[in-house]
Amino acid sequence: MKYALVTGGSRGIGRAICIKLAEMGYYVLVNYTSKEEEAENTLKLIREKGSDGEIMKFNVSDQAEVEGTLGVWLEKNPEKVIEILVNNAGIRKDQLLMWMSNEEWNSVLGVNLGGFFNVTRLIIKGMLVKKYGRVVNVVSLSGLKGLPGQTNYSAAKAGVIGATKALAQEVGRRGITVNAVAPGFIKTDMTEGINEKDFKQLIPMNRFGTSEEVAEAVAFLASEKASYITGQVLSVNGGLYS
Ligand code: NAP
Repeated sequence: MKYALVTGGSRGIGRAICIKLAEMGYYVLVNYTSKEEEAENTLKLIREKGSDGEIMKFNVSDQAEVEGTLGVWLEKNPEKVIEILVNNAGIRKDQLLMWMSNEEWNSVLGVNLGGFFNVTRLIIKGMLVKKYGRVVNVVSLSGLKGLPGQTNYSAAKAGVIGATKALAQEVGRRGITVNAVAPGFIKTDMTEGINEKDFKQLIPMNRFGTSEEVAEAVAFLASEKASYITGQVLSVNGGLYS
């Protein structure tokens, strides 16, 4: 069995990625932090694809929680090397900088950027030993271009892009690739309050994207086919300038 971990796999883009990796024959660890029922639904969909997995609750921004769950799982299952890590868990708390609270800044940096660090640090060790691995970070158009009202989110995603490029150079010799996928506007709970009608004229393809369209790009970068691609950011945004 081949193992994959998807953070924030309970809903939206993360769920679509879990299903795609199940189709590729992976046993999928589905991380979530609050919505257990949604995580269970993802697991059901994984099983419908003929694969298997398990749900794993931890808050990616909480180092002790990550070590206490994922770290313990890794210790207990030394033979189960995770060969695909998708850092997908993310939140946004939009606010103009002048009114942004400490909490809005710290929590968005903590989940989107801190989460990358807390989880990847644990998983990369097994990949280094196995001399194979795929890390795919789900970033955003905001991290490439910057979007007003999202200084926190743009900073966090730009931070992950920098880390993607740096880590790619650290681990390339060991057969590990590290890439990022940058979605534009995708129909999920995260964009629920954004009216597609108002924004779609900005998008050359004149529509929001789907989670499945993002998952296809992630799956390619996570596959053996993408063996000579590393340190890259692949935009999935319907042609929005980035
Ligand atoms: P979503 O529908 O809101 O789902 C967010 C997922 O992240 C859920 O599975 C949630 O788990 C999980 N999560 C949130 N905070 C977490 C934490 N502290 N620890 C562990 N898991 C956590 O969002 P989405 O639209 O699918 O977004 C997925 C990724 O794509 C994010 O990184 C987001 O920034 C990025 N993105 C999205 C868009 C878009 O237009 N939707 C555009 C660009 C980038 P629970 O179910 O347990 O809450």
